[in-house]
Amino acid sequence: MKIIRHLDSKGAAHYASEQTDGSALRIEGDIYGSFRVTNEVADVARLLAPVVPTQILCVGLNYKKHAEETGAKLPERPVLFVKGINALQHPGEPILLPRHLRSDEVDYECELAVVIGRACKNVSREHALEYVLGYTCANDVSARDHQIKLGGSQWCRGKFFDTFAPLGPRLVTADELQPHNLRIHTELNGETVQDSRTSDMAFDVPAIIEYLSGSTTLVPGTVILTGTPSGVGMATKPLPRWLRAGDEVTIEIEGIGRLTNPVREE
Ligand code: ZN
Repeated sequence: MKIIRHLDSKGAAHYASEQTDGSALRIEGDIYGSFRVTNEVADVARLLAPVVPTQILCVGLNYKKHAEETGAKLPERPVLFVKGINALQHPGEPILLPRHLRSDEVDYECELAVVIGRACKNVSREHALEYVLGYTCANDVSARDHQIKLGGSQWCRGKFFDTFAPLGPRLVTADELQPHNLRIHTELNGETVQDSRTSDMAFDVPAIIEYLSGSTTLVPGTVILTGTPSGVGMATKPLPRWLRAGDEVTIEIEGIGRLTNPVREE
């Protein structure tokens, strides 16, 4: 099933199920519990991020070529950092370049996002996918100056700004999508700048869930960003290519769709 979240023309938020003819039918109930798809055509005035994250966990340096391009060694275990739920942004809404706490080195990162559907802890990789509600596209927007130079060796400051976690445009449920070998790419103003496959991950989705759930409850609504492939602006030669106001970034993952956000100044 392809699930969207949207505002109706009165400004109320709903979930809906996209149909093959392009329409969407309203969903009744709890997408993490029991729900049903009604016969009522959804009044989609504006698309929202397909879920409201309860937390956003991120894995760094998880594609072999990306680790190489940043000069980092491939880690022995998945590297965990977090983004705040304040960072959530909807499809089509702007990524804001921080101006109050200024950054001049804002970068894009296409990522497969995994949404946990049922609470889990100490999950083995064999059972990991049973706890996944579905998958969507994410942009792990990163202020490299704060991430690398100004954050006291912690990445979080540079990853945490408002609008730095666009998600969407839809959630494809786990019964419809295998996450292991999907094309994932980024277009910056129409030019392809990242282009890889999820099969290049150092730690695949089951391995990530096994590790992150170790002695740790993953609550429903946990969104896991699974790392980005090579081609980030930071590693562009001869000079890094930072996002500027007026740019447009699209993340596309095979079987999920395209997540597009314009870039504006705060
Ligand atoms: Zn990332």
